[in-house]
Parts: sequence; C-alpha cells; structure tokens
Amino acid sequence: MERERAVGAVLGAAVGDALGAPFEFGPPGAFTARFPEPGAGGEMCGGGGWDPGEATDDTQMAVLIGESLLERAGLDLPDVFGRFQRWARGGPKDIGLQTEGVLTNGLPWDQAAALHFQVNLRAAGNGCLMRASVPAVAFARWGRRATMDAGRRLAALTHGDRAAWEGTAILHELVRVALRGGDPLDAIDDVLAEVPPPHRERYATVLAPDWHPDLATEFNGAVWPCLGSAVWALRHTRGYEEAVRAAVDLGGDTDTVAAVTGTLAGARHGAGAVPDRWTAALHVPLPGWPGRVLRAPELAAMAEKLAA
Ligand SMILES: [Mg+2]
Repeated sequence: MERERAVGAVLGAAVGDALGAPFEFGPPGAFTARFPEPGAGGEMCGGGGWDPGEATDDTQMAVLIGESLLERAGLDLPDVFGRFQRWARGGPKDIGLQTEGVLTNGLPWDQAAALHFQVNLRAAGNGCLMRASVPAVAFARWGRRATMDAGRRLAALTHGDRAAWEGTAILHELVRVALRGGDPLDAIDDVLAEVPPPHRERYATVLAPDWHPDLATEFNGAVWPCLGSAVWALRHTRGYEEAVRAAVDLGGDTDTVAAVTGTLAGARHGAGAVPDRWTAALHVPLPGWPGRVLRAPELAAMAEKLAA
C-alpha cells in the first residue's frame, strides 16, 4: 500500500517534530527518563513554548512546499521561496538561523542562499532535511534521478552548501525506496553511488551499519549527523514509535532529528504504525496565514493527493 506509506511519511515526520520539540537542546536520555514505558501515553507533552502536539517550523515548511506543489501543479521554486518568505515574515515561533538569514536578506530566490553561504561559509544545517517528507512523497513516482534532483533544488533554496543538497537528495531516495515497499537500509550503497565523490565519503561514514550518533563530529543540527542519526534509529528499531523515541532520546536538535526519523520510519512502517494518541494531538499552525491550523486528516489528504 504505497498510499498508506506516503501518509506514514508525512504524518510520521510531523508527529516526530511535535514529539521532539519540547526536548530541543536537552541532554541525551531526557525522553526515556520522563517516559520510561513505551506506549504508556502522555508523551505529547508540550513545553519549551510548545503546546502538546504543536508542530514546529519543520512541519510548517513541509506543508508550504506541499501546498505549492499542489497549487502550481509541479515544482515552482520561486513560488516555494515566496511562501517561505511570507511564513518567515509571519513570525514563526522557531526558525533556523540559516533559513532566517536567507529568507530575509532581500535577495531573489536564486541568489539568496548562495550569497548567504559566501558570506557565512556555513550552510550545512539540517533545515533542508526537516521539511523533506512532503516533497519526497510527491517526487517518488518520477524515479531515483528526479526525486534526488528535486531534493537538491529544494534544499538549495535556503542552503548554499552542496552537502545539504546531497543529504536531502539521499533522504528523498530512501523515502522513495520505502514507499515502493523496499528496505531503505538495503538501498544505501546504490544511493551513495549517485552522490558526487567529495560528498559520498562523508555520507558513507554516517550511514554505515557500525556508525552510532555518539561518533558524530558535529552537533546534530548539521546535515550529516542528523541524517545518520535518523538512519541509525531506523536500523536499530522495529517500529515507528520505537524509532522516534530513540531519535528524541538522542537530545540536541530533537524535533528535527525526530522529524527526519519519522519521515523514514513512517514511510517504512506505514501510517498505521503512527500511534493514534499522537496524531490526535497533532496540529500545525501556519504563521503568515493567520488562523490556519492543519490537523492530521489534512496532512494525510495532502500526502494522498501528492502521491496519487
Ligand atoms: Mg523545528
């Protein structure tokens, strides 16, 4: 059931985001210390400025991409960028430094990220991965090359470093494999072959079976350990709930690591594996569009339309 997995990827990402948000920048182990018993309930707890079940910038930006893809009937990069800018002006509770710098520097869509990178020399944040669930679902049907290319282009809107583009391309393709019923872990070698050599080696390291998040050489707000941690969580767990619990428990950038983990685990295990008690609380405000708040059924409908 490819559709059920497509809904799983989108809902799984959003639920992971909302679950991890209250634990952002906390230490490892904080989640299991508070919720030792899986399935016990109450985990969608809110805190740190977030209401229980409230999704953050990760899901908000994913929704903006999805609405652009549907309304423009395809990938219209200037339109996506314009929506991102409107959202940034709307005063989101959270916005990545990288993303904010690019969306507010007043440059056109095809220059803003590149110039920001030239000036700041750092643009390999995970903000390009966190919003990839929706486009990964939309582009899967066009095959490996096309979905990886779309991942790169969407990442490049806000991230000038090619490392961020390649990480997003890898995530898109792993989702595509999962949506077709394959095991994304078995596809890693083939996907890495599509990544240019200067970047291939670094991703091969963090995606290897023996890699562990403790081996990360950067904070997990960077693209490499974030993607590596999500794949690690998928590899060492048997279901959606277990995977996102492991992701949030890593500490650090918990909402985004759990959103990326939830993208993969939702695509792998399907929407039915995402606990109802978590999707029931989920809600996605859209700064810049006053009054709009999406809930799980609307996210599911978006995923179904994009996957159809
Ligand atoms: Mg966030």
